Amino acid sequence: MAERDAFVKSCTFKEFEAPPTFLRAAERARGKVLVVASAGNTARAFSQTSSTSGFPLVAVVPKDCLHRMWTTEPANNVFLIAVKGDYTDAIKVGEKIASLEGMLAEGGTRNVARRDGLGVVLLDAVFTVRELPDHYFQAVGSGTGAIGVFEAALRLISDGRFGARLPRLHLSQNLPFAPMFRAWRRGSREIAEEDMPNAEDSIKRMYADVLSNKNPPYSVRGGVYDVLSSTSGLMYGVTNRECIEAEKLFEGTEGIDLDPAAAVCVASLFQAVERSFVKEEDKILLNVTGGG
Ligand SMILES: *Cc1c(COP(=O)(O)O)cnc(C)c1O
Repeated sequence: MAERDAFVKSCTFKEFEAPPTFLRAAERARGKVLVVASAGNTARAFSQTSSTSGFPLVAVVPKDCLHRMWTTEPANNVFLIAVKGDYTDAIKVGEKIASLEGMLAEGGTRNVARRDGLGVVLLDAVFTVRELPDHYFQAVGSGTGAIGVFEAALRLISDGRFGARLPRLHLSQNLPFAPMFRAWRRGSREIAEEDMPNAEDSIKRMYADVLSNKNPPYSVRGGVYDVLSSTSGLMYGVTNRECIEAEKLFEGTEGIDLDPAAAVCVASLFQAVERSFVKEEDKILLNVTGGG
């Protein structure tokens, strides 16, 4: 996104999670090596941060995602493991490695460092605009970013200078695989089998497969269900075709080529406008989570 002076080298907002996660690990578990399992964007972001900071990392990714594993600097302290299988298999291997002596699991959504890293997006927006936005839009796979932004909003409200109302969360998923969208639409706190029909096949048909998390922190206390409830939030299901349309329009008007997941988010904003969920004078924070 150099077009807009946004120098996120690995091209997604996962890069905001890496520095606080490495630092917290160094403070709390000195000498241990961080282990991250991912379908690509997270492992690449952590590898990028390792390449510039020197923090050691074990990255575990599915073999089919190896093409996503590049860094702009030599990543001499990254040990990369490719797993035969999908994201879930990579997670299993990552868990085994993390259980070994001297290793440390990065902890996912439960790690406050990861949530706070993503909350920085809201801090930066408020630093610029000087008040909390009315709406926050983001495409979600796990929802870590949305939870992080929610928590950052609570802190800004208790600060008092930036408004007293939580931004309404507008979270989007890519059809046909949209378990949180379906569970929320049913009004359910639990994700059921019926929310993930033909999961394997549906995931293969997704435009933004980084959003294909089968076990997101939705039901857990303080998770996606709770942050949606607390903000009168909305969930959107976005088709591949809507993504491609959003991508074209965004690139044409803003000059930014979107990551497929960011296209899901932009498409959800179109839906919100069409359905009058947002008003023209509202302040909207659209998290373009990846591009360039
Ligand atoms: C991971 C990712 C998301 C979704 O983030 P979650 O924390 O999994 O909800 C959105 N956009 C991009 C580009 C991503 O890499």
